[in-house]
Amino acid sequence: MITILQRPETKYSLDYYAGDPIFSGPVADLKTAAKKAQNKLQGRTIWMINSTAQGGGVAEMLPGLITLMNDLGIDVKWGVINSDDPEFFLLTKRIHNLIHGDETSNTNFTEDDAQLFESINRKNAEKFKTIIKKGDILVIHDPQPMPLGKIIAEEFGLLTIWRCHIGLDRHNNATDAAWDFLKKYAPTYTHSIFTAPEYVPDFFQNNYSIIHPCIDPLSHKNQDLTVTKLTGILCNSGLLPAYEPIATPDYEARIKKFLGDGTTGEPGETGLLFRPVITQISRWDRLKGWLPLLDGFIKLKQENIYRNEDDTNSSHIKRLQLSRLVLAGPDPTAVSDDPEGLEVVNQVRERFISLDSELQKDITILLLPMESAKENSLIVNALQRCATVIVQNSIQEGFGLTATEAMWKRKPVLVSSASGLKQQVSDNINGLMVMDPEDPFEISECLRKLITNPGMAYNLGRNAQRSVYDHFLIFRQITQYLELFMRLL
Ligand code: UDP
Repeated sequence: MITILQRPETKYSLDYYAGDPIFSGPVADLKTAAKKAQNKLQGRTIWMINSTAQGGGVAEMLPGLITLMNDLGIDVKWGVINSDDPEFFLLTKRIHNLIHGDETSNTNFTEDDAQLFESINRKNAEKFKTIIKKGDILVIHDPQPMPLGKIIAEEFGLLTIWRCHIGLDRHNNATDAAWDFLKKYAPTYTHSIFTAPEYVPDFFQNNYSIIHPCIDPLSHKNQDLTVTKLTGILCNSGLLPAYEPIATPDYEARIKKFLGDGTTGEPGETGLLFRPVITQISRWDRLKGWLPLLDGFIKLKQENIYRNEDDTNSSHIKRLQLSRLVLAGPDPTAVSDDPEGLEVVNQVRERFISLDSELQKDITILLLPMESAKENSLIVNALQRCATVIVQNSIQEGFGLTATEAMWKRKPVLVSSASGLKQQVSDNINGLMVMDPEDPFEISECLRKLITNPGMAYNLGRNAQRSVYDHFLIFRQITQYLELFMRLL
């Protein structure tokens, strides 16, 4: 049942972050906030409770958050609820999909569903009751442990907060069904936290705060890479032929690339480091807008290059001629419980093999190995740093950490107007926005602007990094949590 994790192993202490001139200001602000909170938090443990220690955005964010809060002298612990009944996670996955508005999921919740949801949470709560003490603070992440929060709050009278990381900016039958199922747990929660005001269901309307997700600037995915380290990652992972000896060994798990006939092979020559590269890295989910992006790139090539052969000297045309598209996501054979991933990869593959071989040469579709979280993060980091433009063409997006990660690396981003991305990007200020992610013409036009205007692209990237620095770094998120605790206690 509930597992209390040891203090997570992360790479750096708060003092290490503060030693970097870029982070010394935010860390100093954070220390001031922590000092103010010290008296009220004395003797209390803050419990972060979710349902997985690995995989997914929440598990990615919690270790850094917990380590740095402990460094500030605040006692924060992490509990993960478990279930020996696989039906529980099928049920919670269904709730998750419904909250994202998926009308293909079953909207009918039975008495058995409610009983399963509660009984697993009650079992977890039994053990948890022996550990928790009066005065502690409970932060329950996402729907899976929501009943546990209710059970504990009722018995111990604790400050209990529900942190919901998912949502949709409109409602339909699916969202209504999920919220209907969850609403009975809401009244016992002191407060709720959402990523955007549009996501808040009616029953939390008078009782919520907005806290945006954040990135850790020193994680494997976001840390600065020296040129040697960057080329080392590209060579070790097979994305760049090694022209010189490389100090580090090749990664065991290999990246796969689609070949012209739809089979997979080693990436070989991808043009990274040399050409203008347009990159999207995401899960293989239909809602990430892969196919319209692919079509937008095809239009970009066809309309701006093949029709302008007499003008090949212009540097604009040259850039467009050389540009390449990289689409990358986790190898779906490594994610056994995600049949949808395989389906989407196959759709992208079908479209790719229907193209003529000249166009195929300009499109690199990569399946990234997931065996080592560290290597996967380093590959994503390197791919993002090699991009001229990073796209996140989501049809729907809760927040879109892929955009945040790209913006932190000073990349000009092209994002859709999905609600999560609108939280981060203002069109023409810190990125460009396509209004209709399913319109290849609009996508092609925005890509053309970014590829042919390096000055504009540079300024967008610069502003993008500034906005991540101001709003979406881990320090800011901890400050917001502390301020919220102070307000509620
Ligand atoms: N990601 C990754 N490897 C991949 C594809 C994606 O590590 O092959 C990461 C990506 O860098 C980001 C996260 O998965 O940190 C996706 O988060 P986001 O908020 O963009 O979307 P979600 O997948 O939660 O819908």
